[in-house]
Amino acid sequence: MRIDVATLFPEMCERYLEESVIGRAKDKGVFEVYCHNIRDYTLDKHRRVDDTPYSEQKGMLMQCEPIFRCFEAVTQGRERPHVIYMSPQGRVLTQKRCRELSQLSGIFILCGHYEGVDERIIEEIVDEEISIGDYVLTGGELPALVLIDGIVRMLDGTLSNADCYRDESHFSGLLEYPQYTRPEEWHGKRVPEVLLSGHHANIAKWRREQRLINTVKKRPDLIDTAHLAPEDMDIISELICEQNKE
Ligand code: SAM
Repeated sequence: MRIDVATLFPEMCERYLEESVIGRAKDKGVFEVYCHNIRDYTLDKHRRVDDTPYSEQKGMLMQCEPIFRCFEAVTQGRERPHVIYMSPQGRVLTQKRCRELSQLSGIFILCGHYEGVDERIIEEIVDEEISIGDYVLTGGELPALVLIDGIVRMLDGTLSNADCYRDESHFSGLLEYPQYTRPEEWHGKRVPEVLLSGHHANIAKWRREQRLINTVKKRPDLIDTAHLAPEDMDIISELICEQNKE
């Protein structure tokens, strides 16, 4: 997969993309990423890329032309990538959308800054607006990195195997079960005996129950859309009864 990021602050993104799991995946060639400075594409002799919005007293807006020229230069002579504008007005990002986007061969991510971008560039090149949550940040760089991280960890070769992300929260619609590491006892709290038993069927059953308990307790709103087995429903009904009693 090839990812292009158009931003006024490429170094902000590059630094993160060099590190840890994502950096190692890049080094192994699991994906390619290029961060482009939109300022390199302005025709203004002072390298300006923004201007005041019409009939507004506040803030600056990124102009169409430098973004368009950047997009044209980066995509020239290749298959058009899927174009995403990081925006608080977009659909809120989910694990499902990360998974779908991880199947594409190329994405081009536009990061806004200041008051955002001139609406006409969205109409001209953008296929989809994505938000990382219902709040407003200073720029699209952190949201772009959130999106890239969410996508890249599901590409083959990033994690040791697909179970690493399939078992995690949100993949099947539920939260993950609690996890423990050494020592067996810490501050008087013991690791649940079942995890020390080596009995795979019992461990799997315990984990399923714990997923349900965790989700009902922490994010009951997820239960309605989660993939549930008929036997899960009994556990959930019991949990909800208990909660109502408290
Ligand atoms: N004036 C815009 C509005 O009210 O919708 C907000 C502009 S924001 C200050 C500047 C840039 O940060 C946006 O163009 C966008 O790229 C990015 N941004 C801010 N919050 C975001 C969010 N929740 N999700 C994705 N991108 C966001």
